Amino acid sequence: MALIKEITQEIERHGARLVAVSKTKSVSEIMKIYNEGQRVFGENRVQELMDKKDLLPGDIQWHLIGHLQRNKVKYIAPFISMIHSIDSLELAAEVDRQAAKLKRKIPVLLQIRIAEEETKFGISPSMIDQFASDLLRQGSTYLVFSGVMGMASFVDDEDQIAREFRNLKITFEHLRKQYFMDNPDFREISMGMSGDYKIALTEGSTMVRIGSLIFGARN
Ligand SMILES: *Cc1c(COP(=O)(O)O)cnc(C)c1O
Repeated sequence: MALIKEITQEIERHGARLVAVSKTKSVSEIMKIYNEGQRVFGENRVQELMDKKDLLPGDIQWHLIGHLQRNKVKYIAPFISMIHSIDSLELAAEVDRQAAKLKRKIPVLLQIRIAEEETKFGISPSMIDQFASDLLRQGSTYLVFSGVMGMASFVDDEDQIAREFRNLKITFEHLRKQYFMDNPDFREISMGMSGDYKIALTEGSTMVRIGSLIFGARN
């Protein structure tokens, strides 16, 4: 059985979904995975995504998983299926503005900084209440708040990774109860990559983002 099928089955047993992370991979490498039945792909750079997407089938659901600059939002707004990396009020406002121009709803996740090591991106858990209330006060018509995303530290310590994922789930539940109770779309916890997706599934991930395990190591 192809590796992707095995991994997909394991993910589905946990009631989760796979985002196949195709960054740095060629159109033909992506087509191989597409031909195995995979339709959800993730990229972290807007330019690379724009370069590849028109050469690939139109029924692919593209997810933007990496840091997103405000001036790039307009390029992806017409087609993106989900943005995993909302980490500022300004970015949320810009996605809403571009989506409004197109009258197109865009599902988004709030990226939370869960790693105990220093990382650049994501909303600090200690700021999450401030962020969520400001976000809701700011208002948005075209954003579909769909959950949270986080990346664990790149460490071997599995207890630490599990603890970080657990904290993301706790943050998710808190946000849902306090701010999104009447929003059935707020249900995704995007966590888990090639090295830690099994831990993430155990800790309640609903969406794992796997690249190298499926496509092979990146150069
Ligand atoms: C590259 C990347 C992944 C996938 O990483 P792998 O270790 O190759 O599975 C997942 N999430 C984000 C945000 C990434 O940038």
